[in-house]
Amino acid sequence: MDEELTMLQDSVARFAQRELVPHVARWNVERRVDREAWLKAGEAGILCPSIPAEYGGGGGDRRHDAVVAAELGRAGVGGGFGTGVGVSCSLVAHYILRYGTEAQKEAWLPGMASGAIIGAVAMTEPGAGSDLQGIRTTARRDGDAYVITGQKTFISNGQNCDLVVVAAKTGTGGAKDVSLIVVEPEKAPGFRRGRNLDKVGMHAQDTSELFFDEVRVPVGNLLGGDEGRGFVQLMQELAWERLSCALGAVTSMERAVEVTTDYVKQRNAFGKPLMAFQNTQFRLAECKTKAVIARSFTDDLMMKLMEGTLDPVTAAMAKWWTTQSLTEVADECLQLHGGYGYMNEYPIAQIWADARVTKIFAGTNEIMKMLIARSL
Ligand SMILES: Cc1cc2nc3c(=O)[nH]c(=O)nc-3n(C[C@H](O)[C@H](O)[C@H](O)COP(=O)(O)OP(=O)(O)OC[C@H]3O[C@@H](n4cnc5c(N)ncnc54)[C@H](O)[C@@H]3O)c2cc1C
Repeated sequence: MDEELTMLQDSVARFAQRELVPHVARWNVERRVDREAWLKAGEAGILCPSIPAEYGGGGGDRRHDAVVAAELGRAGVGGGFGTGVGVSCSLVAHYILRYGTEAQKEAWLPGMASGAIIGAVAMTEPGAGSDLQGIRTTARRDGDAYVITGQKTFISNGQNCDLVVVAAKTGTGGAKDVSLIVVEPEKAPGFRRGRNLDKVGMHAQDTSELFFDEVRVPVGNLLGGDEGRGFVQLMQELAWERLSCALGAVTSMERAVEVTTDYVKQRNAFGKPLMAFQNTQFRLAECKTKAVIARSFTDDLMMKLMEGTLDPVTAAMAKWWTTQSLTEVADECLQLHGGYGYMNEYPIAQIWADARVTKIFAGTNEIMKMLIARSL
C-alpha cells in the first residue's frame, strides 16, 4: 500500500456505501446488477484500474485491482458486483490487453473502463468444467470468419455482458486445439442467452447459460492471431486469477469475524453476552487466527506477483487453503449467531452462502491439490 492506493481504497469504500449498498437487496431479488451502477463505477475510476491510461484505464497495476476487490468485499458487495467487476476488468480486459491487436484494445478497453462494455469469459460447458480440453464448442473457419457452434454454462456476467471471450475448438484435438475468440453479442446473430441460473448464494451476480448457433465473427476476433493458443493464454493469467480468488476469501473471512464479534458482544444468553462464554472466545480466536494467517500468506504472494515471481502452484495453494478456511470460518461464525445467522438480513448469512462456491470456481480445490501434488 502507498498513499495513492490508500486514496483509491477510501474512494471505493465511499462509492460502495453511496452507490452500491443501497441497491443490494433489490439486485439480490432481480439477480443482476444495474448497468447504471457499472457506468457510475466507471465514472468514479473504479473499473479497470490496472489497464493503461491510454486505453481508458487507471494506469495502475494488480495492487489496484486487489484494493478495489477488497473494498467491494468489505462493503458486502463482493459476491455480486465485485465478482462481475473482477471477471470483466481484472480478467477479460487483461486477455484483451495481452493478446488483442491495437485496434481491438482501442475498440474495447475504453468501454470496459467506463462500464459501457461488460466482459465475460466462457469456458465451462455442460459436459466439461474441470476437464477444459473436453469442450465441444467449435469455431470453424469459413472465409474471413469463424463460425461458432456450441453451448456454455455457469458464465458470470452472462446476462449483462457485451463481450464474451469464448473458448472453442479450432481443430479436432485436445488442449492444443483450444482457441480464445471474442464474440460481441450485439453483432452476433445466432448468439442467445439462456437462463439466469438460480444459485445458492451470490444472488446479485448474473450467472448464465450461453448458446452459440452458427455465430459468425470476423477472423480478427481470434485472440493472439494464431489458432490453438487458448490453453496457454488462459494459463498465463491463472496465477493472478487464483490469487485474486484467495484475496477475496481473506476479505470475507475478516468480515465474518468482524460482524460476528460485534454480534456476540451485544447478544445475551443466560444473563451475559455470548462473548463471555469460553466456547465463543475460542471459536472466534480460531477464526481470527485463520484470517490473519491467510492475510499474511496472500500479502506475501501479492508482493511476489508484483516482483514477477509468483508461480501458479503457490497460487493454487493460496486458492484452496483460503477458500477452504473461509467456508470453515463462515460456518463457525454463522453458528455463533444462532437462528439469526440463518436469516438473509444478517450479513453472516450472505457471507456463508457466497463462500461455498469459492471452493468450486476458478478451478476446483481438488484440481488445485492435483496441481500442487504434480509439483512434488
Ligand atoms: C457461480 C459460478 C460462476 C462461474 N463462473 C464461470 C465463468 O465466468 N466462466 C466459466 O467458464 N466458468 C465459470 N464457472 C464454472 C466453474 O469454473 C466450474 O464449475 C468448475 O471449473 C468445475 O467444473 P464442473 O462444474 O463441470 O465440475 P466437474 O469438473 O464435473 O467436477 C465435479 C467434481 O469432480 C471433481 N473432479 C473433477 N476432476 C477431478 C480430478 N481429475 N481429480 C479429482 N477430482 C476431480 C471436482 O473437483 C468436483 O469436485 C462458474 C461456476 C459457478 C458455480
